Amino acid sequence: MTKSFKKIFFPNVDLKYWNDWKWQLKNAVRTVGNLSEFLNLQSDEIERISKVQTLYPFVISPYYLSLINPKDNNDPVRKQVVPDIKEIEIVSKNSDADPLAEKEKMPVEGLIHRYPDRVVILVTNNCAVNCRHCNRKRNWRENETALNIKESINYLKSNSEIREVILSGGDPLLLKTEKLKNLLDEIYSVDHIKVVRIGSRVPVTLPMRITDELCEMLKRFPSIWLNTQFNHPNEITFESETACRKIQYAGIPVSNQSVLLKGINNTSEIMKILCQRLQEIKVRPYYLFQCDRVSGTEHFWTPVKTGVNIIEKMTGHTGGLCVPRFVIDLPGGEGKASFSPKNIIEHKNSMYKIKTYRGKIVNYEDVGD
Ligand SMILES: *Cc1c(COP(=O)(O)O)cnc(C)c1O
Ligand code: SF4
Repeated sequence: MTKSFKKIFFPNVDLKYWNDWKWQLKNAVRTVGNLSEFLNLQSDEIERISKVQTLYPFVISPYYLSLINPKDNNDPVRKQVVPDIKEIEIVSKNSDADPLAEKEKMPVEGLIHRYPDRVVILVTNNCAVNCRHCNRKRNWRENETALNIKESINYLKSNSEIREVILSGGDPLLLKTEKLKNLLDEIYSVDHIKVVRIGSRVPVTLPMRITDELCEMLKRFPSIWLNTQFNHPNEITFESETACRKIQYAGIPVSNQSVLLKGINNTSEIMKILCQRLQEIKVRPYYLFQCDRVSGTEHFWTPVKTGVNIIEKMTGHTGGLCVPRFVIDLPGGEGKASFSPKNIIEHKNSMYKIKTYRGKIVNYEDVGD
């Protein structure tokens, strides 16, 4: 948080409250009138945001709002959470409310089974911020769905090939600790479930949610992993770093899935700084996602070559642990596919011509099997 932000806008709020995630959620900014107090919006912008909001509402935690430089309309944090008229103005024939056909892959409402050994369970529709690029923004106006825990657990029980459960949403860490604990107890009661992965942006958008109580609860379970979503170096702050460290101290590895976003992080320079900073806080860059073809996100889309070039410019030039895999979740629910830089230039019999990270072409002779 920028200290001046709190001093200006919440001068009389005790730090104890500012650092309380429930206070943050209660005071999250959800109306354009409220937002304009913070960002000094002009009347035409207020009008545009109001229009977008009827279709795609916004939510911004005061903490995340404090990362925005109010003088910069192109601020990378601002662009992720402040509605843009392009969300409703650009209507592309290539976009869809649900391009990954998630609804078709749900044997139980809220449970997506696309790959053989792992499923996703959507546990809530709520988030600490509504990311404008969210691939489930279609759900924002839906009422909170009741969790089908019983049915989901029965599904897990009767499908012994499933070994990993991914909790998603919405943001699973917006559930009360007690509720999450009960859910984890149920999931781990199924013998063949070995791993639970939590997908949560809370370390980035509401780091105070990572309380001692939450970590104490999580650390009792055998194998929990956390995937978060840092998209820009400005999001790595004292608070978000502390949140990641606390999760790590609880024995939970933290990985990162960035979304490639035009005007925010679509250069190798920014991505390299982001991923190096992530490595420094021991958060492993796992995936760099092509922005999904979701209606209302067209203005963030980049061509495939942008992602491939970013990975090519990072590979070898910085440590391998800083380089994520560039993947595209294929429309129609075909699954994620890697789009890697091409480095096999030629392959004849046992001879390979390989391009090194410096661009030099080198021969590599294979062995027989
Ligand atoms: C992304 C995703 C997963 C996880 O895929 P990994 O490649 O293991 O990260 C699982 N199920 C669904 C439906 C997904 O979209
Ligand atoms: S935190 Fe995740 S689910 Fe929530 S709005 Fe952002 S991208 Fe969507």
